[in-house]
Parts: sequence; C-alpha cells; structure tokens
Amino acid sequence: MTPAPTPGQSRSQELFDRARAVTPGGVNSPVRAFNAVGGTPRFIRSAQGAWLTDVDGNDYVDLICSWGPMLLGHAHPEVVAAVQAAVARGTSYGTPTEGEVALVEEIIGRTPVEKVRLVSSGTEATMSAIRLARGFTGRDVVVKFAGCYHGHLDALLASAGSGLTTFSIPGTPGVPESSTALTLVLPYNDRVAVEAVFAEHGDRIACLITEAAPGNMGVVPPAPGFNQFLADTSRQHGALFISDEVMTGFRVSRSGQWGTDGAVEGWRPDLMTFGKVMGGGLPAAAFGGRADVMASLAPDGPVYQAGTLSGNPIATAAGLTTLQLATPEVYAHLDTVADALRAGVAEAFTTAGLPHVIQSTGSMFSVFFTDEPAVDFAGASRTDAAAYGAFFHAMLDRGVHLPPSAYEAWFVSAAHDERAVQTVLDALPAAAQAAA
Ligand code: PLP
Repeated sequence: MTPAPTPGQSRSQELFDRARAVTPGGVNSPVRAFNAVGGTPRFIRSAQGAWLTDVDGNDYVDLICSWGPMLLGHAHPEVVAAVQAAVARGTSYGTPTEGEVALVEEIIGRTPVEKVRLVSSGTEATMSAIRLARGFTGRDVVVKFAGCYHGHLDALLASAGSGLTTFSIPGTPGVPESSTALTLVLPYNDRVAVEAVFAEHGDRIACLITEAAPGNMGVVPPAPGFNQFLADTSRQHGALFISDEVMTGFRVSRSGQWGTDGAVEGWRPDLMTFGKVMGGGLPAAAFGGRADVMASLAPDGPVYQAGTLSGNPIATAAGLTTLQLATPEVYAHLDTVADALRAGVAEAFTTAGLPHVIQSTGSMFSVFFTDEPAVDFAGASRTDAAAYGAFFHAMLDRGVHLPPSAYEAWFVSAAHDERAVQTVLDALPAAAQAAA
C-alpha cells in the first residue's frame, strides 16, 4: 500500500511526477524510486556532513551515504577544494595525469593488489575483471553466489538453475540465455556447494567472484575462513579468485574487507574490484591484482579494455583526497557511531517486541526483521519487508533517511556526530513501535 503523501513533501511530489513523465520510474537507479517501501522519494537539494536537505527544506540524518561512497560525509571542505581546483584545470584530457598515478599508488598501498586500472563504475570494474580472468585462464565459466551483486553486467545478472551445479538462467529479461549460460550460481557460505561445483567443472572455471563481505542482500558476513577457503579452492583448480570490494573497499577498514580477514588469514585475491569510497562521491572505480594477470591487459597484453573518462581528473582528485583523509581515526569513529546505532536499534526493537538480527562487517550493518541470523540469500529473504517499510517511513518522518529497501546496508560517515546519532536514537523507539 502506498502511504498518503506526507505534508511538507509537495515539491518532492511535484518533481517525482515530472520525473516519472520523462524517466522510467522517475529515477536513474531503481531502488531510489521507493518501490520497496512505497511513498514519494525525497528529492535532495543539498547535503552537508551527515545531513541531507530535501527540496521542501526538510533535514534528514543520512544513513545511505550515497550507497557507500560518502565515507567523510557530504561536502567535506578538503574534498570540495580538491574538486574545485581540479575542475579549474579542465574536466577531462584523455591523456595520462599525475593524479591517476597517485590514486593507484594509494590503492596499492592499502591492499594486496600489485597493478591497478581505473574505470568509472563498479559494474565496469567487475565486467573487466571477469573478461581478464577469462582471457588469462583461457576458460569461460564464472562462479558467483546468489544474493551477491556485482553490478548490472549481463553475465552476472543470473539466477540459479534448478540443480546445484546446473548453469544459470537470466535474472532479467533482456539478458540472453547465452550470456548466463556460462555462469554458475551457488548459495553463499556453502562450502559443500563450492566443492561440488569445482569437482564437476573445475577445469572449465575461469574465476569465482564474490563480494568480500556481501552487503547487497543486507549484510551477510562470510563465515570465518570462508574467503580463505574460496581463494584456496579456486587456486587448486587453476581458477582466479576475484574479491569484489566495490562496497566494502576502504569502508569497513583502511584496507577494506581484505584488511579484516585476508590480511589476518594470510591469503590474497588474484583480482580485486573497487568503487564507491575510492571516488569520493564522483564516478571512479578500479580493478587490480596480481601483476602477471594484469599483464594480460591491453596494451601490455591481448585482453582489451578501455574508457574515454577512465581516470577522470576530477573523480581522481575527489577519490585521492578522500583516501588520504581516511585515517585510522576515521575508521575508529565509524565503528563508534555504528556501535551506538546498533545498540539503539537492539534496545528499541527489544522494547517493542520486534524480532531482529543485526549483521555487520565493520561499521556497515543491516537490521533483519527476523529472529534467525542470515547466512545466505534464502536466509536474508526471510526478513519482514513490510515491517521494514513501516519502520522506514516512521524513521523518515522523524528526520532519518534509511536505505529504502530491507535488503541494504546502512552506512555512516566521519561526519556523523553526536547530534546526528542522537537524532537517530530519538527516532528509534517510536519507529520500532510503528513496525511492531
Ligand atoms: N559490486 C558491488 C559489491 C556493489 O555493491 C556494486 C554496487 O552497489 C557494484 C559492484 C556495482 O557498482 P556500480 O553501481 O558503481 O556500477
């Protein structure tokens, strides 16, 4: 049911009506349309620090953070200054720049990758990494997990076929069967399924790609040792292990999820993909990894990949400044903020008698409206999406903008201060009651 338009939303409503007349769903990325929660999306006029201001003048504590990128908060003065300085030097040259070298060096300094190529979106990064894995290994089959999202490339918009090791069917109209015919989809955190698929198809598998810690079915952390197991199993069969850190990279720790488990357990991905935080809110993403694998990429090697705006100087300036400012103190602050919010949610939901499980990696977390932890997509799907919708709107009415879907992570930033945290904590008890 679509809630009645909230008073004080007339300008957002007007813009949404105008947008729907000219753009499918009125939005340029589906989840923004509030389809999962109903109602009118807030059209945002400006953002500062932890706060969004909509076109009707309402303020919200932002727990979307642009779906991850805004690690430092909105309009951080040093990022704004770096972008302004870059714009004044010209917006794009189509030639190499010093900023690209510095950004790549920063990424290499924080992660186990040896060589990096810059692109403009996470989708481009994973698409290129898969092409490279196929070109390097001379094999075609790709293994992924249900509930992991790697962008909207055809090969990975796949749904699991009927049997465990059958090849997949397209997950959306518009993707030909031939595009997913070489993709195998497995349940997450399921070692037996991984072993079975490698036993049956191992010599045809080019790569296994996984979110380093899935955030796109809500946060479903890897079981201890699971990433290491994936790296080892892939390697035993001559396949590449691709760790997608578009969401977790430079967000859950200085070195992303790899810094959380890979560095501790001692394994390395063959390829990694990055996006979001490394662009500081502008379109920048990357893929990188083993030097011998990256040597297969044009112009050094035969695997083609290119981009007119790749390494764009403005995006590079925003990303580099963001990473340079993302110090250990910033990550400690994110953890403190997330701890306060998680404690507030637990208390409010318990008081309201609302079943809930909070799952996290670092400061990134999701609240599942169930009483059982989710270890895979089937588990995550058990969340009560209708209750989430009621909760979401009750929070929005109280000045807190959560992600408009039950299956997403909540993100905080370095700019989430006491006032922002308190606003969320004050909103939680009544919102939990509204959802109970
Ligand atoms: N990989 C992961 C893990 C993501 O979370 C996303 C986007 O949310 C992507 C890839 C695709 O990135 P983009 O939306 O920049 O194409």
